[in-house]
Amino acid sequence: MIGVTLESVSKRFPGTGDAAAVDGVDISIDAGEFFTLLGPSGCGKTTTLRMVAGFYFPTSGRIRFGTEDVTRKPPNRRDTGMVFQNYALFPHMSVAQNVGYGLKIRKVRGAEARRRIAEALEQVHLGGYGDRRIDQLSGGQQQRVALARALVIRPRTLLLDEPLSNLDAKLREETRAEIRRIQREAGITSIYVTHDQAEAMAMSDRIAVMEAGRVQQIGTPQEIYHRPANTFVARFIGRSNVLSLPVLAAGAESVDVRLPNGASRTVAAPPGHDLAGSDTALVSIRPEHIGLAAPDDPEALPGRITDLEFTGMATNLTVEVSGQELMVAAVEVPGGPAVGDRIGLRLPAARMWVVRP
Ligand code: ATP
Repeated sequence: MIGVTLESVSKRFPGTGDAAAVDGVDISIDAGEFFTLLGPSGCGKTTTLRMVAGFYFPTSGRIRFGTEDVTRKPPNRRDTGMVFQNYALFPHMSVAQNVGYGLKIRKVRGAEARRRIAEALEQVHLGGYGDRRIDQLSGGQQQRVALARALVIRPRTLLLDEPLSNLDAKLREETRAEIRRIQREAGITSIYVTHDQAEAMAMSDRIAVMEAGRVQQIGTPQEIYHRPANTFVARFIGRSNVLSLPVLAAGAESVDVRLPNGASRTVAAPPGHDLAGSDTALVSIRPEHIGLAAPDDPEALPGRITDLEFTGMATNLTVEVSGQELMVAAVEVPGGPAVGDRIGLRLPAARMWVVRP
């Protein structure tokens, strides 16, 4: 197993002006890790993955597989397995022929090829499907064939570009669990590209959140969810309230902020923040972490409900507090309030976190 390192990797396409598609990306992926590039359309995920695969060369920066510098190596000298959104299977070939294609190119033939094809099909739970035609398979099965075809060559890294986008919601969830099982069993360093944050959270050991060609944050799903680095990450991952609050005092890893009702909270802040007394801090809190209280509760922020929606799992409320609208997700809403009603909100300090702009 080997890790993959990107050092200050940038990519500019000719004729696209000053904007870099990928801009100074530093990522260090551990051996055996399932690492995801996550971000909105056009943020540079696919370009980054293609540079790891060797389809594009970086304009500047280095890419290493383990200690080996692969920056300028062509794709066929990198030993990567690729899985794409559109499967890219050969429709006129059988499942076994599709899976065996990479072996043929590598001149693995006969009994050895048959054994490895059977093994790869077993790995993706498609043993016995070797003689089927591709068009006799479901979308999920086709994607598993694509995975078997990538794994059969025993690549050093597995690169997956939105492999689930063509599947319906239920199949997508089943297949993502299947991909994760196969990746764990094979113990293969994997880089996964998606714009779907739920998919990224469910599958990844770590995630790099990208925007406009830059990495905004790298962390475990828990770190990114509970400690978003900036307002972009806070809003892109799940739903988040970002409040502008006056700073009363600032410490190295926390700041005291004043809530609209005059109460103060000591809130954790990222190390190295540059906030000082009299600045305004941006403080994030998730809708599910805000508690409900009676409107006259002295401990709570008084607000007014401006919107209310029942989703089954929770009730989503929009509550206006001193001119700022807060999203609240409550499992239980006592008293059956309605739009226009006054309500109190509890903001626990432990659930609040200072984000960068
Ligand atoms: P999506 O989720 O839509 O695939 P992405 O995050 O994968 O988006 P990229 O495909 O990496 O984004 O594109 C990043 C930027 O680079 C975009 O602005 C895109 O228009 C530009 N770009 C990508 N490929 C090329 C190319 N071959 N020539 C010129 N510009 C390109």
